[in-house]
Amino acid sequence: MPGFYLTTAIDYSNGDPHLGHAIEKIGADVIARYRRACGDDVHFLIGMDEHGQKVQQEAEKHGSSPQAWVDRIAESFLEVWDRLGLSNDDFIRTSEPRHRRGLTTLMERIAANEDFRRSKYEGHYCSGCEAFKKEDELADGRCPLHPGRDVEWTEEENWFFRLSDYRDAVLARLRDDPGWVRPRTRRNEITRLLEAGLEDISASRSRIRWGVPFPGDEGHTVYVWFDALSNYITAIGYPDGEGFDKFWPADLHIIGKDITRFHCVYWPAMLMAAGVEPARSVWGHGFIKIGGAKLSKSAGTELGLIELIERHGPDALRYFLMREVPWDGDRDYPSSEAFIEQFDRRYTTDLANDLGNLLNRVVSMVSKYRGGDIPPPRGGELAGKASVALSEYRSSMDDYLLHRGLAAAFDVVRAANGFVDESKPWALARAERAGAGLDDLDSVLSQLIGSLGTVAAMLAPFVPAKAAEIWRASGGDGPPPGFADLEPALGRLARVRPGAVLFPRP
Ligand SMILES: [Zn+2]
Repeated sequence: MPGFYLTTAIDYSNGDPHLGHAIEKIGADVIARYRRACGDDVHFLIGMDEHGQKVQQEAEKHGSSPQAWVDRIAESFLEVWDRLGLSNDDFIRTSEPRHRRGLTTLMERIAANEDFRRSKYEGHYCSGCEAFKKEDELADGRCPLHPGRDVEWTEEENWFFRLSDYRDAVLARLRDDPGWVRPRTRRNEITRLLEAGLEDISASRSRIRWGVPFPGDEGHTVYVWFDALSNYITAIGYPDGEGFDKFWPADLHIIGKDITRFHCVYWPAMLMAAGVEPARSVWGHGFIKIGGAKLSKSAGTELGLIELIERHGPDALRYFLMREVPWDGDRDYPSSEAFIEQFDRRYTTDLANDLGNLLNRVVSMVSKYRGGDIPPPRGGELAGKASVALSEYRSSMDDYLLHRGLAAAFDVVRAANGFVDESKPWALARAERAGAGLDDLDSVLSQLIGSLGTVAAMLAPFVPAKAAEIWRASGGDGPPPGFADLEPALGRLARVRPGAVLFPRP
């Protein structure tokens, strides 16, 4: 079984999870579940980024020790991820001993390669980015990403990483492998950045206590980005763990588009310096925006994640986010109210009406006209459309265009509803009673059940609980099958199971 190692950005422990965190994890979970359905041995990692100045400050503000603070935050993230049905295989926290061990080895190997040098640093530090900013990166003396925070003039003696030495190697990798950084807009951005040249970056901080000691210089802690990025290897047992041998290089790092520089420049350079192969690909997804602004800790309170999950259930939220927000771009709503209105609209039209009604209609007709027995599989117009949509779905999903994959699944739903209206099974049943053969209605019902089963398999990565209900109602046992088993499993569907309403009206 081929391995597929998938990671997301680890979340910064300075506040509770919000919608902006959720969309990335849901998208990654969709990919993890899809790869499993394709037969891959998936290892799906998420986690928490728990060190650094901002965490230390936030803990102090709340009268807490940093460790107690990050313990509480990790709990609140885990609770939400559980409610959203994430299927992650591991959850790494950078305050864990396994992380500290791996990070220390990584730093020692980079040091052994003579890629650290001591130097005095003077510059503006944005604690929002946990990064130094050059004069020309500031707008009116402030970080454009964090206009609400002051940048701090900082002078320290730091360890520097010789990033500039790796510019050519990273650029070559980017040019040789068009799929390395995706989507293309992100790749172009990184190419321009590298072409403009790189400066060495700070690898340690001397005034931050809440972090991992810099090897060989205990007065310093490892700079939080070095600390955070290395979670992708420490979680699987770098340097000598079995998981590291099996799963590294990672197949896919999923990150927000605002941190591509760290993942597509710093991280591969760090790994090259330590003699480790970089990840196979990085995907920088876009954001939900409200009135043009990215969701943040403060905007997140207006669209509370728990309230959104409770509004129509976790699968409905997963569906809505994956349908609305293109996985390769942004989606902007004029206001929080407009977001909620659109959520309600999609719930009613797509889920309750189109999908829920389809299931209900088909299962009722098989019960009424065939006593619940499903006629053997047939080809035909609808079966043909479902198979075209399935191959569109597969190619979109293979390219991580999740919104297109989901739209292809709903093409089948729409086609099936249209097929019911056109083929008029009730008229065929009347004709049977008047003496016509069973063939026509058998063909219609079997194609409808086949399309429902196909939809269940296509939707399983997106709405796992609801897809399992569809599969079960259509006569399937267990969860919807993977793609290699789909056709034989459809052939085994024998009796429908009328059940509860899939998406109750609010
Ligand atoms: Zn900033």
